[in-house]
Amino acid sequence: MPIRILPARLANQIAAGEVVERPASVVKELVENSIDAGATRIDIDIEKGGQRLIRIRDNGSGIPKDELTLALSRHATSKIASLDDLEAIFSLGFRGEALASVSSVSRLTLTSRTPEATEAWAAQAEGRDMEVKLNPAAHPVGTTVEVHDLFFNTPARRKFLKAEKTEFAHIDELVRRIALSRMDVALVLRHNGKTVRQYPPAQGEQFQQRLAAVCGNDFAGQCLYIDNQHQQLRLWGWLSEAPRNHPDLQYCYVNGRMMRDKLINHAVRDAYGAVLAEGQHGAFVLFVELPAAQVDVNVHPAKHEVRFHDARLVHDFIARALADALAQAAPPSDWQTTS
Ligand code: ADP
Ligand code: MG
Repeated sequence: MPIRILPARLANQIAAGEVVERPASVVKELVENSIDAGATRIDIDIEKGGQRLIRIRDNGSGIPKDELTLALSRHATSKIASLDDLEAIFSLGFRGEALASVSSVSRLTLTSRTPEATEAWAAQAEGRDMEVKLNPAAHPVGTTVEVHDLFFNTPARRKFLKAEKTEFAHIDELVRRIALSRMDVALVLRHNGKTVRQYPPAQGEQFQQRLAAVCGNDFAGQCLYIDNQHQQLRLWGWLSEAPRNHPDLQYCYVNGRMMRDKLINHAVRDAYGAVLAEGQHGAFVLFVELPAAQVDVNVHPAKHEVRFHDARLVHDFIARALADALAQAAPPSDWQTTS
């Protein structure tokens, strides 16, 4: 075969393989877009575990009519313009891939209205070159993305979808992660028309209520609050003294971005030390904050990982801050037998 340029849809479908693993990954990308757009309320409607429909509606800044077509094309982003921007990133998105990828493996409609506009517009990408069709629509200021029939044209992906219940459980877990990362944003999650989660916006002291709503009263009632600073590093959040038998309550964010970070998990284990027996786990909701230029977020397409420029410093700071908090909370003697 001669060398040729792939049609846009096919190129986007290949890129989708990296980010769109399952319905929950679509929800992650779309909700992150809503947060980047400054939304204070996000409604998430799911049908059939996300396979039939994922609908995310927000009250964010909206997209102007003349940018809707671009929003659906690959490598199109309003969030960075240069390598310098990439090295000090404040938004959750920056790759300009999500909408193009998702719309190449589903039937996607993007409907939006900006505060300046008098009417809303809906955009759909079709065909092998993903030409965009625009139609007038009714919509308040903000954006709705509807994703129908995920993976309808990629049978290999569709085959890997699990039962509706399992896929929804992944979405539910993702929404919990987001609900912890942005307590100030109201979130509603519905499945097959039924409201499953409803998180009102929280400020200051109400954080405790959101924490209880997401992590349960057991955790929220007995956890330690920690807020510690060292140079430009800050660590705050909650952790439980008592070990758990499942690693089910471990939430970690770096500059507001949800992470599964080996370095942080290792630091947490170090901090708990001998309190954790084989097979036991700590429980925590932790926020690491540091200057954007000291962390590289462009490590993984789905942005699950970061790279700290000074990993040792971050690790030791977290381990020490948590160990101090645990030591202060524990009674000086016989503390291992009471846990
Ligand atoms: P990225 O988030 O990496 O920029 P996306 O493909 O997810 O790439 O989105 C492309 C662009 O579309 C964004 O940069 C943003 O300008 C716009 N956009 C997407 N979703 C929304 C939304 N919910 N509200 C406002 N603008 C949006
Ligand atoms: Mg995005």
